[in-house]
Amino acid sequence: MQILHVSAECYPVAKAGGLGDVVGALPRFQNEMGEQAAVIMPMYRTPYLYSHEWEVVHKGSAYLGHWNFDYTIIKEQSNAQGFPLYLLDINGLLDREKVYGYDDDTERFCAFQIGVVDWLNSWSNLPDIVHVHDHHAGLIPFMMQHCYAYKRLEFIKSILTIHNAQYQGAFGWDKTIYIPQWDSWKRGLLEWNGQINPLASAIKCCWKVTTVSNTYMRELRTMSNGLEDLFEYEKGKCSGILNGIDFEVWDPEKDKYIDHHFSTSNVQEGKLRNKQLLCERFGLSLDKPLFIFIGRLVGEKGADLLPQVIGDSFHYIGRKMNFLILGSGEKETEEKLSSLQVISEGDYATYIGYNEALSRLMYAGADFLLMPSRVEPCGLNQLYAMRYGTIPIVRRTGGLLDTVIDMGDQGGYGIAFNHTAVGDITHAIYRAVELYGQKTTFHNLREKIMSFDFSWTKQAGEYISLYKSFD
Ligand code: ADP
Repeated sequence: MQILHVSAECYPVAKAGGLGDVVGALPRFQNEMGEQAAVIMPMYRTPYLYSHEWEVVHKGSAYLGHWNFDYTIIKEQSNAQGFPLYLLDINGLLDREKVYGYDDDTERFCAFQIGVVDWLNSWSNLPDIVHVHDHHAGLIPFMMQHCYAYKRLEFIKSILTIHNAQYQGAFGWDKTIYIPQWDSWKRGLLEWNGQINPLASAIKCCWKVTTVSNTYMRELRTMSNGLEDLFEYEKGKCSGILNGIDFEVWDPEKDKYIDHHFSTSNVQEGKLRNKQLLCERFGLSLDKPLFIFIGRLVGEKGADLLPQVIGDSFHYIGRKMNFLILGSGEKETEEKLSSLQVISEGDYATYIGYNEALSRLMYAGADFLLMPSRVEPCGLNQLYAMRYGTIPIVRRTGGLLDTVIDMGDQGGYGIAFNHTAVGDITHAIYRAVELYGQKTTFHNLREKIMSFDFSWTKQAGEYISLYKSFD
């Protein structure tokens, strides 16, 4: 089966979050299972571009409204990622340093999608499946089915995977000319709440819709930033497939970002050596449990509550723990977390920014990972943390609910709480500090969570079964 994944992110080429991790791994596992999966993404100006060899495989031109643009498709020559990797270059529009965050993101991703569809239209053997990820690729199913120039693509089966339904890419009808000439009777397939909504359009037009955990799929029917009724209506074609993690890339025995490797057989010693590095670098105390947070500093992740949680923990539980925060996002939260450093007594530090190497060292050296998310479609951090022997502390929501069982429940191995509220989070930290004191239980838990198999091997098969369910 020939599958083309279309995405704005793909690790290690460009990653802003979990989407990049998934698209960087899933196709390789699909290929190992005998399918032919490839990825097309925008050509950004990232280091990966300059450190690899590329060949031009296609040149074309298309219209975004009245603007006639040229695009080029280049292919990575060494198959370094384990799947054919194509980049779509539009001079001056896509070739920027960041993935998102520009005023013309609507134009950038519309042009990207038009380029992809236009390129596909030039293929002699069309793919069996076009698998689009999130709203940046969400107009593609509509374009393949209802744009006159691309009618040849009408019968390609399209799948949408939603990694985060908060972001939908909506824009006004004044930009309707961005979509290549289309059958105006089909207006309803583009529209949601008075706007052109790429995510909603993909939900309506795709043959199947998946999201990255079963619980999140259920939650979307009551909480999806305005799309609730649509999810309720389309529930028949929607299902949840939990993300896997790439055990090759995320492996404490050979992670290229860490110096002190370890496995279940020497986890206590291995983690201690990594913790030592962190404590030296950030001036923290080695004998206290180390709580970390890694992620976008946004309300979705519950990051806005962290400053008060940290203050309350020191006040009510005592200075019995260290906190180390890595992330970037909302300015107010960044500032509050940075200014907390003045109250540190060698037990609090923060790093504002994105730092892959530091994140790996933190997963390796920490004792507990905090994830007080308000919304968490799947969550990869808790899976990485467990792989590196770090006990997850999570709010029971989305994929966190599906992957972390509270220690107090049968077969449990993590700490879970119900509400993204300062009191609940602080209480969970209190429980963790108590657990840290029970050395045997704590050490056994580390070994247990490291042995779980959250790899892609099983999950990739679920996507293949879904594709095959069309036959
Ligand atoms: P998201 O909602 O951001 O996609 P996920 O849990 O699905 O959340 O994925 C987050 C990924 O991004 C993980 O690989 C995590 O380690 C990484 N990450 C997030 N913020 C940072 C940061 N500031 N530095 C390094 N890695 C980060």
